[in-house]
Amino acid sequence: MTFQTPFALLGDALAARGYSAPTSVQAAVLEAEADGRDLIVSAQTGSGKTVAFGLAMAPQLLETDGRVRAAEAPLALVIAPTRELALQVSRELAWLYEATGARVVTCVGGMDPMRERRALQHGAQIVVGTPGRLRDHLERGALDLRGLAVAVLDEADEMLDMGFREDLEELLDATPHDRRTLLFSATMPKPIVALARRYQQDALRISTVDADQGHGDIAYQAMAIAPADIENAVVNVLRFHEAETAILFCATRDNVRHLHASLTERGFAVVALSGEHSQNERNHALQALRDRRARVCVATDVAARGIDLPGLSLVVHVEVPRDAEVLQHRSGRTGRAGKKGTAILLVPYPRRRRVEMMLRGARIPAEWISPPSAAEIRAADADRLLSTLLAPVEPSESDHEIAARLLAERSAEDIALALVQAHRARLPQPEELLASDAPAPQGPRPGFEGSAWFRLNIGRRHNADPRWVLPLLCRRGHVSRSEIGAIRITANECLFEVAAPVAARFLDAVRRTAEEDDGVEIVPVEGKPREAARHQGGRGDHRPGPGPRGKKFVHRKGPRQPH
Ligand code: AMP
Repeated sequence: MTFQTPFALLGDALAARGYSAPTSVQAAVLEAEADGRDLIVSAQTGSGKTVAFGLAMAPQLLETDGRVRAAEAPLALVIAPTRELALQVSRELAWLYEATGARVVTCVGGMDPMRERRALQHGAQIVVGTPGRLRDHLERGALDLRGLAVAVLDEADEMLDMGFREDLEELLDATPHDRRTLLFSATMPKPIVALARRYQQDALRISTVDADQGHGDIAYQAMAIAPADIENAVVNVLRFHEAETAILFCATRDNVRHLHASLTERGFAVVALSGEHSQNERNHALQALRDRRARVCVATDVAARGIDLPGLSLVVHVEVPRDAEVLQHRSGRTGRAGKKGTAILLVPYPRRRRVEMMLRGARIPAEWISPPSAAEIRAADADRLLSTLLAPVEPSESDHEIAARLLAERSAEDIALALVQAHRARLPQPEELLASDAPAPQGPRPGFEGSAWFRLNIGRRHNADPRWVLPLLCRRGHVSRSEIGAIRITANECLFEVAAPVAARFLDAVRRTAEEDDGVEIVPVEGKPREAARHQGGRGDHRPGPGPRGKKFVHRKGPRQPH
C-alpha cells in the first residue's frame, strides 16, 4: 500500500525518509471519508500518528501545486502535552513540510519566550506548542489564531490529565468556528468525549488501537542479584533504561525512605511516595513527575495505588512482591493505553526458586537476564549522547555569539570534548556489580586458628557463589573480607569460618542486621565441620577436595559465576 496523498511534495518527503507504506492510522486518515472532516482518533505514540495528522492537515495548508498557502497568521496549530513531545512533533512536521515552504514555529514552556515571539512575528504557517505557553502567547497578542484552518490536539487525554483543559478551551475559543479539529488520544475517557462534543462537528471516529496492538504491552524481566548488591542493581537498571518515568517498588516505608535518600545522593531526580507523606507532599511528588522535574518515583504498594503517570515505561520491583497478584498490580502502572512498558524484578539469589514458581503459577513469561553492567550502560550512554548532540538545534543570536567566541578561543575538537563532558557530568555513575564486573575477592591470609564456623541458608541450588556470598557476609556481620576464611558451599547451604578475634562481634552484628523478609539466615555451627580445610593462600586454591558426604570445599575465590 502506498501513501494516498494528492500532494507530491509530501509523498517525496516520505519516500526520502524511507517510509514506503502508511501505518494503519495514516492509511485511515487518508481515506476519502476522512477528507476535510473533524477526526477523533484513538492512536498511540509509535503508531505514526504525527505523520498521520501531518498528512491529514495538508489540504488546509497547501495550494493545489503543493506549495504552502500565503497567510498572514498561522494556518495550523498543534497542541501537545509536554515539551519533549511538542519538540518531537515539530521536528517531524519540519521534514514533512520542508519542500512546501511552510514555516514551523515551536512554543514550549522552558524555552525563551521572546525568541518565540519574534519567530511568530516573522510569520509561521504551522505552530506547535504546549498549552500553557501557547496560551501565554495568545493572551499577550503574539499568537493570532483568527485565521486558523486546522487545530490538532495531540495526546488529548494526557493534556486533560495534566490539568490543561482551560488552556485548551481558551486556545480553541480563539480560533474560527469553521476550523477543522483533529483530536488524537490514546484513551477516550468521558472528559475527552465531552471536549470533542464541544469543539468538533460531525467528527469521524477512527480507532486503530486494536490493529496496532501486538502482543502484551508489558515485558517482564527478572534479574538474580547478590543480596548486598540490590541497590547497585537499581542504579544500573535506571541508568541503562533512562526511562522517561520509572517507578520503584519497595516493601516498607523505611525502605522507600532509604532508597530515595540513596538515589538522591547519587544524582537521580527522584521523589518518594509512602504512608509517611501527607496529601500535600504526595501532590507535589506527582506534579514533579508529571512535569518531568523528577523521573523516578520510589513507592510502597499502598501509596502507589491508583496513580496513573503518563510516560511511565519502567517498573522495578526492588523487593519481590508478596504474590503474583501484587506483582501484576504493581507492573500494571506501566504498559497503559497500549504503550509499551517493562517490569523488572530484582531477585536476591536465595529467592530465585520462589520467584520462578510464582511467575510460573501466574503464567507470567519473564525473561531471566543479567543486570546491566557498567560497560553496557556506558555504551548505551554513548549512543544516547551522540543522538542528542547530533540532533538539529534552533540557535538564537546570542547562541551564535557565544559559539563564535568559543571558536575563536578553542579548537572544534576541544569544544566537542567540553560538550561531551558537560553532558556526561549530569549522569549518575553506573555501579560495578559484584557478580558481573567485580574481580574475584583477593587474597587469603593466616590467622584462622580457632576460628568459628557459621551456616548460611543459601547453597548451590540458590546459585550461591563466593563472589556475592562474601560481600553479603561482610555487610551482615560488619567484618572485612580478610576476616572471613574458607567458604564451603553445598547444595542447600554455605558453611564458612570467621576469624576467632571477631567471631563474637560477627554473631552480634548478624543478629542485629537480620531482616525478617529477605530469606537470609546466618547461624553459628557447633565446632568445626569435618575436614573443613582452610585456604592456603596464593593462586589456584579452589577446593574441589571431596569432603564428607561428597560435599565440596570451595575457597572463596571459586570460579563459578552465578547465572
Ligand atoms: P509517532 O507515533 O508519531 O510518535 O511515530 C513513531 C515513529 O514512526 C516516528 O519516528 C515516525 O517518524 C515513524 N514513522 C511514521 N510513519 C512511518 C511510516 N509510514 N513508516 C515508517 N516509520 C514511520
